[in-house]
Amino acid sequence: MAAATVNKSAHEFDKGNLDSMLTRRFFFAPAFEIYGGVAGLYDYGPTGSALQANVLNEWRRHYIIEEDMLELDTTIMTLSEVLKTSGHVEKFADWMVKDSKNGEIYRADHLVEAVLEARLKGDKEARGIKLDEVVEEDDKKKKKKKVKSTAVKLEDSEVAEYESILAQIDNYTGPQLGELVRKFNITNPTTGNELTEPVEFNLMFESNIGPTGHIKGFLRPETAQGHFVNFARLLEFNNGKVPFASAQIGRSFRNEIAPRQGLLRVREFTMAEIEHYVDPLDKRHARFNEVKDVVLTLLAKDIQVQGRTDTVQMTVGDAVGQGIVDNETLGYFLGRTQLFLTKIGIDPKRLRCRQHMANEMAHYAADCWDFEIQSSYGWIECVGCADRSAYDLTVHSVRTKQPLRVQQRLETPRVVEKLDVQFDAKAFGMKFKKDAATIRNTITGLDEERLQCLKDELDKAGVSGVKCADGKVYEVTPDLVKINPITVTEHMRDFTPNVIEPSFGIGRILYSLLEHSYWAREQDKARGVLSFPVNVAPIKVLIVSISNDPKLTEIVYELTRKLRKLGIASRVDDSSVSIGKKYARNDELGTPFGITVDFATVQNGTVTIRERDTTSQYIGKIDDVLSTVDELVKGNVDWAGAAGKLEVYSGVQDVAE
Ligand code: AMP
Repeated sequence: MAAATVNKSAHEFDKGNLDSMLTRRFFFAPAFEIYGGVAGLYDYGPTGSALQANVLNEWRRHYIIEEDMLELDTTIMTLSEVLKTSGHVEKFADWMVKDSKNGEIYRADHLVEAVLEARLKGDKEARGIKLDEVVEEDDKKKKKKKVKSTAVKLEDSEVAEYESILAQIDNYTGPQLGELVRKFNITNPTTGNELTEPVEFNLMFESNIGPTGHIKGFLRPETAQGHFVNFARLLEFNNGKVPFASAQIGRSFRNEIAPRQGLLRVREFTMAEIEHYVDPLDKRHARFNEVKDVVLTLLAKDIQVQGRTDTVQMTVGDAVGQGIVDNETLGYFLGRTQLFLTKIGIDPKRLRCRQHMANEMAHYAADCWDFEIQSSYGWIECVGCADRSAYDLTVHSVRTKQPLRVQQRLETPRVVEKLDVQFDAKAFGMKFKKDAATIRNTITGLDEERLQCLKDELDKAGVSGVKCADGKVYEVTPDLVKINPITVTEHMRDFTPNVIEPSFGIGRILYSLLEHSYWAREQDKARGVLSFPVNVAPIKVLIVSISNDPKLTEIVYELTRKLRKLGIASRVDDSSVSIGKKYARNDELGTPFGITVDFATVQNGTVTIRERDTTSQYIGKIDDVLSTVDELVKGNVDWAGAAGKLEVYSGVQDVAE
């Protein structure tokens, strides 16, 4: 059968229609809504939860199962020491500015962005071009604050300067944002009052563990640290070998200054994170060939610092080959992520990889790319892919003195010069008594460079201070410690692996997917459809009956039983509305297939099956239809290919009431 054509762009995207549909069909809603709600907290309803579960299922299949990753489920409540060591206590912050009179708070980069965008919009209005309004959500009052545009024409040079700043808005430090506020006379858009200099606001929710309040903790802002603190066990589980990856799906918390844009910036959200541990001297990937031809849309950092946003289409192979993407493993995950996002229904034309600019990137990161998805809110980071180098494992290892390192047998042993440390155990013990072991461990734990310094001082001055973890300094002399160069043949290599981390914000992906899947029927703008791919659709099959006759009801029951047995999520719509209306309601839920039971079913055991997008139908014996549904749900055939055992059916008009 020829594939029926579907016109999904008969109507312009209508966000109002989509929003009301998502609320009406309870995909998600503000948490504690009956108490007035809290900005940045959302509950998912039955459809949203099922969609999320299916997306996570695909994620688990695509990454964890396909790549033999080691799955984790680590605690959300995190010891403050862990987050101090990782740098989050000091650095996990955004810049905020305050109204100098009424104390109202804005996130500095968002405010600069909103004001400059509003001015550009005013300029466009003055030139007769219309655009949407720029909105910032006020947390306290839970109402929308609008950065209003006034139709004022800008100089051409100002337009170019604003556009250039907006192209690199993520690259400014706090003091630089302060300069922009002053340079462009940015004030509180609601009061016109002056703003304070930007100050840092830490995004973590602090808590106490236990009744005494002595143990400090935080709700984790990412799942990653749970992987790193378990590295030694994971490595052992993997027989001491790298590369391998750990993966975790779980909740993270960030006390966002200005939650806005629905699910896109919230305070509690589901993340799916992979930490791939790799030899720093060999970042090739064994399966790179499988993704080298995947085409990515790239926005590289050197383009952005020129104030431009133009992209290039390039294969993963070329991007790594030309050094645009730092290494094969990072390129591999960019390719795999492109495949994952398109598999769950993200439109590849609205997907790009944006490289982090220098200031944006953590100081330890070697390279970082964000998958940004375009929606009515603009281009939004939904997956971050970073090469975190050896930073996390090193800092946790130094802090805990646990060796988070890999021992690797060398294929060819190598001869190296190194420093050997010998102690006069008796004299050492007598001098330092109970501290002797600590000092000895500190000295043997020194790297080659520091050992050389200690040796030089002992040789020159005949004494040297050794600083231990408790902060105390102990004086050692050459009669207690002898450090001499020796030649050894090494059979093992010892290194801290580097970590490549793809980090997924599931809520952002989900919302983008909803926008990308939404369209309205040509004949009726109000008839919204969500064209989810079958693999993520919350419900796969709608079952309807032409009448409430008990003979038909019995068949409906039998169908649900058989579908349950096949593990296929189905739903019976036994309300009193017409069949056309039932179809339309389930198009809103994105249900891809509808089985209709009628009196022909009683007579000759046939049912019809309808496909959501084309609304075309086939007819066949119940078991043939069910086995076709099973193949469709497994993705073994598509609708056009499903005609095998079934016949085209054109007996029923699919008309909405
Ligand atoms: P990051 O660790 O900041 O790179 O964040 C990793 C991913 O988490 C991002 O790519 C987003 O998809 C998601 N994410 C970060 N912050 C939020 C938020 N406030 N609300 C929803 N998703 C977020």
